[in-house]
Amino acid sequence: KKITIAIDGYSSTGKSTLAKQLAKELGYVYVDTGAMYRAVTYFAMQNGFISNDFFHKNELIVSLPNIKLHFEFNPELGFAEMYLNDVNVEKQIRTLEVSGFVSKIAEVSEVRAKLVEQQQAMGKDKGIVMDGRDIGTVVFPDAEVKIFMTASAETRAQRRFDELQAKGDNVTYEDVLKNVQERDYIDTHRADSPLVIADDAIEIDNSYLSKEEQFTAVLELIEE
Ligand code: C5P
Repeated sequence: KKITIAIDGYSSTGKSTLAKQLAKELGYVYVDTGAMYRAVTYFAMQNGFISNDFFHKNELIVSLPNIKLHFEFNPELGFAEMYLNDVNVEKQIRTLEVSGFVSKIAEVSEVRAKLVEQQQAMGKDKGIVMDGRDIGTVVFPDAEVKIFMTASAETRAQRRFDELQAKGDNVTYEDVLKNVQERDYIDTHRADSPLVIADDAIEIDNSYLSKEEQFTAVLELIEE
C-alpha cells in the first residue's frame, strides 16, 4: 500500500538527498517544495518586486495568478526539475541571491495558500515523498511517515558552501552561514505556518550521520 512521506526540517540538512533516495527506492514521486518557493522568489526578482531595498508584496500577490509552476521528470538526473511558466529554472533558483530573499516570500500567506493547495493536489494519490518546512504539519498532517531533520548551522553552512563552490559560485563561508542563520530565524518566527516539528514526527540529527547511515535508518522506519 502506498503511503505519504513528509520530510521537514531546517535548510541544508540533506532533506532532498534523503527524499530523492527514498523516492527512488520505493518508486515514489519526489516533490521539492522549497523549489516552488524559490521559483516564486525568482519570479518576484525578475518582475522587480523584490530587492535589498524593497519588497512590493501587494504587486506579487496580485500577480500570483500569472505564476504557473510545474515539475518535469529529467530521466538523466533521475529527478524532477522546476519549471516557472514553462521555463526550466533549476539553475536560476539555486543561487545565494534567491536564498537571500526566499524566506521573505515564504512569509506571505497568499503565496503559502497557493503552493500548499498545489502540493496537496500532487499528493492526492499517495506514493509521494515531499520535503519542505510544513509538510507534516500543514500540507499532509495525516502523512503515514513524518521525519524532521536537523543539524548544526555550521554543519549545514559548510555543506551549502561546498555545493555552491563546486558550481563555481563566488561566495564566502561566512555569507553562507549568515544566510542559513537568517533563514532559520525567519522560518521559525513567521506568523503563518512557522517551522515546527510535528508531534508525531521522528527527529533525525544528521550532523554525525553519513548519507548511507541516514538512508538505512529511515528505510527501516518505513518498513516497520
Ligand atoms: O528547502 P529550501 O532550502 O530550498 O527552501 C527554501 C526556503 O523556502 C526555506 O528557507 C523556506 O523559507 C521556504 N519554504 C517554506 N515552506 C516549505 C518549503 C520551503 O517556507 N514547505
